[in-house]
Amino acid sequence: LIAFLLYLFYLVPPIGQLVQGGVQLQQGLAAMKRIKEIEDLPAEPVSAAVAGTGEPVGVTFQDVVFKYGDDRPTVHDGVTFEVPPGGLTALVGPSGAGKSTVFALIERFYDHQKGLITVGGRDIRDWPLGELRAALGYVEQDAPVLAGTLRENLLFAARDATEDELLRAVARTRLDDLVDRLPEGLETPVGHRGVLLSGGERQRVAIARALLRKPRLLLLDEATSQLDAVNELRLREVIAEVAAETTVLVIAHRLSTVTNADRIVVMEGGGVRAVGTHESLVGEDELYRELAATQFLVG
Ligand code: ADP
Ligand code: MG
Repeated sequence: LIAFLLYLFYLVPPIGQLVQGGVQLQQGLAAMKRIKEIEDLPAEPVSAAVAGTGEPVGVTFQDVVFKYGDDRPTVHDGVTFEVPPGGLTALVGPSGAGKSTVFALIERFYDHQKGLITVGGRDIRDWPLGELRAALGYVEQDAPVLAGTLRENLLFAARDATEDELLRAVARTRLDDLVDRLPEGLETPVGHRGVLLSGGERQRVAIARALLRKPRLLLLDEATSQLDAVNELRLREVIAEVAAETTVLVIAHRLSTVTNADRIVVMEGGGVRAVGTHESLVGEDELYRELAATQFLVG
């Protein structure tokens, strides 16, 4: 028995580490796969299809039912909402409400089982996958900074962007200060082998990276990390500016984001419980009022 306990004693901590490492590795691999998928898209036809129009597109969900697997619980149980082209729409709701799943379905990482999803007025299943993904910009929560220079990070998914486009994306995401501060500007290595960026900077780098692909719809899963006042203001400005040019659908964790939104979709328990503006929802929706009172950042 003692031998067995000793064995457990030695075995368990490494198993714990292994499991944790495995989860991180898996998340890393999933992110890499998504970036790889974007990278693998045929360069010419895609830029022609997208850059040709570049018009913002809207999204609709109509009675969407979805679960991650036959033996999994229902995540979306009749989700209905409309995002018109252009402007800022915020998705809010408690953790587990199904907000990130909305993005996974729009990206077609998964297919819904019932109901209808349209992008640009067209059934999502009728879009060629490469064309759909080229039309979408996706900024995931806590988007990673990749190994390499800031320039490489920005151009990762848009290698043929011009210098002008790059500098414009830097300006639009208020990263000029960062570039000025870095010892070698855009050529400075960043991430864990270079200059560490703050949470707010990382998120804006991820937004700039997405903008360089000229998305017709930007999906932004806001990070839940606290931002200082300057970074919070910058993020708010950046989102407002991008929403003036294309459609932005943001999973919002910040009151400052939702107060600026053109419309807010409140999700709860796999459904949509209310749609409105900050003012109307504060008046009409108890859950929203509670979320607003806590300033969000729930997850
Ligand atoms: P939110 O973003 O609002 O917190 P999610 O859409 O992430 O909610 O999750 C909704 C539900 O779906 C949760 O119960 C969550 O555990 C489950 N879920 C999310 N992603 C997956 C996945 N990849 N596989 C299985 N279940 C998932
Ligand atoms: Mg989420």
